[in-house]
Amino acid sequence: MTSLVFVNSVAALPAELATLVVVARQADFAAGWPLQGLGAEAQAFGKRLAVDAQPGGAAAQSTLLPEGARARKLVVVALRDTLSRHLSPTQGQEIGNGIRGHLGGKGQSAVVIALQSEGQAEAAARAVARVLPLYDRKTNDGSGNGDVTALLRTSAGDVSAIASLQVVADSTRLCCRLVDMPPAELDTTRFEAEARAAVADLPHVSVESLVGDALLEAGLRGLHAVGRTAMAAPRLVVLDYAPPNASATIALIGKGLVYDTGGITLKIVDQRSLTMKCDMGGAAAVLSAFIELARGGIGVRVVAALAMAENAIGPDAYRPDDVLRMHSGKTVEINNTDAEGRLALADAASYIGRKYGPSALIDAATLTGAQLVATGKMHAAIVSNDGDFEALALQAGLDSGDHCMPLLWSPELMKPEFKSKVADMRNSVADRMNAQSAAAAWFVWAHIEDLGLRWLHIDLAGPAFLDNRGTGYGIGLIVDCVRSLAKG
Ligand SMILES: [Zn+2]
Repeated sequence: MTSLVFVNSVAALPAELATLVVVARQADFAAGWPLQGLGAEAQAFGKRLAVDAQPGGAAAQSTLLPEGARARKLVVVALRDTLSRHLSPTQGQEIGNGIRGHLGGKGQSAVVIALQSEGQAEAAARAVARVLPLYDRKTNDGSGNGDVTALLRTSAGDVSAIASLQVVADSTRLCCRLVDMPPAELDTTRFEAEARAAVADLPHVSVESLVGDALLEAGLRGLHAVGRTAMAAPRLVVLDYAPPNASATIALIGKGLVYDTGGITLKIVDQRSLTMKCDMGGAAAVLSAFIELARGGIGVRVVAALAMAENAIGPDAYRPDDVLRMHSGKTVEINNTDAEGRLALADAASYIGRKYGPSALIDAATLTGAQLVATGKMHAAIVSNDGDFEALALQAGLDSGDHCMPLLWSPELMKPEFKSKVADMRNSVADRMNAQSAAAAWFVWAHIEDLGLRWLHIDLAGPAFLDNRGTGYGIGLIVDCVRSLAKG
């Protein structure tokens, strides 16, 4: 597999490269510093190529360099000089689109990215990592898996703090690999094993899991119902990072549906081309964010709960009309077995909220297709009961490159959508044309509203999975939110 390694100076780049990719704003190419130290040929050719490189779309321009140059091939990727206000100044999406396909081929390749400030380094590292997927079942001889070296720089010099960038890159690629794995390779048993292995060497971390009937005993009847007929049992995997003298506790909840058939409310025929292996993208992002926070030694306790299940069809599948008593004590009449993610999330959030007493709780989920209608492929939809938390998340999205956009927070308008004749609520809305994604968020909230905690919901159905690949979306957003919360 292609490796990705960060270096802290031009001198540390490999002496002979098959491909050198340089990424910078057009204005910075014109100024010259992004190409500095890369050799006379690369500097001369790069500056000329950048004149013709068009930011966005087909951003890259390439040429072969003359004999004796450090690289055989030079690729120039131009970024925009100015941006609209709902896009991250790091331009991670543009970086990814520009470099995709140019790195990791035959021989050694390197990418040099020119940043406006060192604060953009982690977002840029994520952008590189997410275009170098680890999951690959193509039959080949391995010759196309050359190693990649990355260097980030600003006009003031090369970024020297590369240890955290390596953590970011590795955790992002882990997240992408898990999302890319089909359910035959990643059922709930394997997902738990992957999570345990990924945190095994982290300091101050313990892991517990509630599997199968243990969920019933603990009162998580919603999560249990969703996954009970699958071959691998549903489970809640709880990762607990508890450093000495932690100043607060923050909870992270991830939806981990390893596959979603829709259940008895089967996904309809013309949606068969829909891939559903990505329905654990929230849990994968939470796992990777947890790894980064623990590895970075953050001073708060972080409890991450991965709610794993397969929404399968079988003799013991839960049905429309069933009434479930959730962990919160509230009852839910099922009117759509394909609205399963909110049952898993609500139970996990209630359990963690009551057991650990966090001051803030963040949930991340590929929850609604309607998220794509509301905020698109590049921006997750967020919902919060706290205006300051919402503003903090919006900024974290711009800083981390994991864009997000708030949806309305009006429980008064959402609650009537779930009205049931026989239970406290139904699990799916009466009118799908009435702010469906915000309504789904309200359902989760309804099971923790008595706890008085600050809550942020991230619906990442679109951005977590693009062009049939996991993206690692959500890790940076969650990490930046927790860091901001930890600062108080
Ligand atoms: Zn579903």
